[in-house]
Amino acid sequence: MKQVTIQNKTFGLFISAQEIDESIKVIADRINKRFQDSHPIFISVLNGAFMFTSDLLKKVDIPCELSFVKLASYEGTTSSGAVKELVGLKEDITNRHVIILEDIVDTGLTISAVIAQLKTKNPATITIATLLLKPDCLKEKIHIDHIAFSIPDKFVVGYGLDLDGYGRNLSDIYQLI
Ligand code: 5GP
Repeated sequence: MKQVTIQNKTFGLFISAQEIDESIKVIADRINKRFQDSHPIFISVLNGAFMFTSDLLKKVDIPCELSFVKLASYEGTTSSGAVKELVGLKEDITNRHVIILEDIVDTGLTISAVIAQLKTKNPATITIATLLLKPDCLKEKIHIDHIAFSIPDKFVVGYGLDLDGYGRNLSDIYQLI
């Protein structure tokens, strides 16, 4: 099996670039049909979703916009501790059809924070597309519209996903072995 070593950890090939491409095509076709006349705005959550976003958007052939956001962590003054604030969104999304692009939904806390903060800006609809979902790890009840791959609870890298900043450039997805 094809293997890579990142930060002294060994990963085995898990999902090939070709499988990723095929799955993204299915999602793009659905989005093209569903949002044909509604000029959606894609909101891509950096850093992990950059490759997914690039490949998906190349297959989207309807009028659309694209914006990139980040969740910035800072220590809040509330007792709950760390607070994550969505930064980078310059566009007015009031009454817009928003499609969030995520790399991976694990516990679901990150995507829930993104959804909650976007909802305050009164979009018409929010659709979620994620490259990966770990269904066994979900702690939040979230409806995810488009999932390229549901995967077991094992750490993965590649195709935008990193380990300590490394591995994002790999065109396949690798699983810790
Ligand atoms: P959640 O908030 O859903 O628990 O986690 C989402 C974030 O955790 C992702 O955006 C990603 O940064 C990180 N994450 C969760 N699982 C993995 C994984 O298997 N590999 C990598 N590289 N990051 C992960």
